[in-house]
Amino acid sequence: VWSAVPSGPPDPILGVTEAFKADKDPRKINLGVGAYRDGNGKPYVLSSVKKSEERILTSHPEKEYLPITGLGSFTQNAAKLAYGEDSAPLKAGAVAVTQSISGTGALRIGGAFLARHYPNAKSIYLPTPSWGNHTPIFRDSGLEVRQYRYFDKETVGLDFAGMVADLKAAPENAIVLLHACAHNPTGIDPTVEQWKELSDLIQEKKLFPFFDMAYQGFASGSTSRDAFALRHFVSQGHQVALAQSFAKNMGLYGERCGAFSLTTADAEEKARVDSQLKIVIRPMYSNPPMHGALIANGILSDPALYSEWEGEVKGMADRIISMREKLYTTLNDLNTPGEWGHIKSQIGMFSFTGLTKPQTQALAEKAHVYMTADGRISMAGLNGNNIDYFSESVSKAVKG
Ligand code: PMP
Repeated sequence: VWSAVPSGPPDPILGVTEAFKADKDPRKINLGVGAYRDGNGKPYVLSSVKKSEERILTSHPEKEYLPITGLGSFTQNAAKLAYGEDSAPLKAGAVAVTQSISGTGALRIGGAFLARHYPNAKSIYLPTPSWGNHTPIFRDSGLEVRQYRYFDKETVGLDFAGMVADLKAAPENAIVLLHACAHNPTGIDPTVEQWKELSDLIQEKKLFPFFDMAYQGFASGSTSRDAFALRHFVSQGHQVALAQSFAKNMGLYGERCGAFSLTTADAEEKARVDSQLKIVIRPMYSNPPMHGALIANGILSDPALYSEWEGEVKGMADRIISMREKLYTTLNDLNTPGEWGHIKSQIGMFSFTGLTKPQTQALAEKAHVYMTADGRISMAGLNGNNIDYFSESVSKAVKG
């Protein structure tokens, strides 16, 4: 039956892990996947998460179904975390929110809802480059995927002029996907002033902003600072779509815990939107998993656990920043050709190193160092034990 099915290409990010696993060299390093590692290179379960989970085990033994849109207390708290306690649409009861299968599921629900209900929705504009899964998610949701310029190879910085020109040229009603903070894969975010300009432009051009917030807290160490762009747009009267993930900031990767929301005009409109979100979700997976949402909600609803969690998010962000500084200093100490300032200035979990495809191949083959072919590294995979070896290997690869 399946003789005509062609084999598909391996996933560009998860394929890196396969190659890493097959390598037997003890010096090997995996900087491909964006999962946080502690100072010893080990997966990290947050202490606030452990405590929340312990409480669930003693207090919530039921395994009943959740409603289609998930655990209501969790979605309300997730929305508060993103939009802020004082958000006008939240206070007006005008935010339609549903639990989702982490950030990916939130994007997919959003894509499907917009394809079905957003008037004249035909296309969604993604930054070039963007997270590799954005294109298939939105294409499979039934939207036409287009691009706007984002990364400037020359400066290894933001191509703000190119971004503005492409958004100006986009047709009215086009959807614009914006990484709320810690842009993946480049680690380059617009400045506060640039976000303000983008908000004005998107309003003027009647475009629809869709925020992907997969790293709230991870960029600056502060969840509210990282929500600046989203909150600014909402304060300026934009109606927005938002995908949230608790994979990174709570380390809940495999629990698949996230939320999708839309700000609406008022409570009556919200109720109609809610009813259609359910109609989108029900045939996809009926209702979401409970465990991750209970863990996240336990943290978001308890002031003591919440402040412990905030400290842990900051701890992760700070460790990454210290690795950036160390990598920058070591590459310079080794007289590595090129300008490496971007390693320090980039934001969040990833760094777009500027290493070429042949250099990344040489690093894998000769030094057992694995990263995606575009030269993106997960800074969280570096630690005190491997950073010198990594810096020396990069330096050698650049010198050729
Ligand atoms: N958006 C971006 C930009 C991401 O980097 C990721 C994770 N790599 C996601 C969304 C979704 O991740 P998850 O489904 O694990 O929450």
